[in-house]
Amino acid sequence: MQFVGEIYKDAMLFKKQPESKSKARPYLGVHFVQCSVYGRLYLNARQKAYMGFCPRCGKSFQIRVEPGGSRSRFFKAFCR
Ligand SMILES: [Zn+2]
Repeated sequence: MQFVGEIYKDAMLFKKQPESKSKARPYLGVHFVQCSVYGRLYLNARQKAYMGFCPRCGKSFQIRVEPGGSRSRFFKAFCR
């Protein structure tokens, strides 16, 4: 599991859609640089981190949710 960055806790639910009854989880967009692909990291069950995999090489990444983290909603992940 490679650490990508952290996001401010108030920005963590930006993808949540209150009018939707779906169980779609909030996610962050990630550019996996070495594989030149885009993917998503989904908020985990405890809502402490976004976690996911590079869709091409399968390497796992996480972004922590922290009170003083970034408000960025897009991150770069370096696979190799
Ligand atoms: Zn990759």
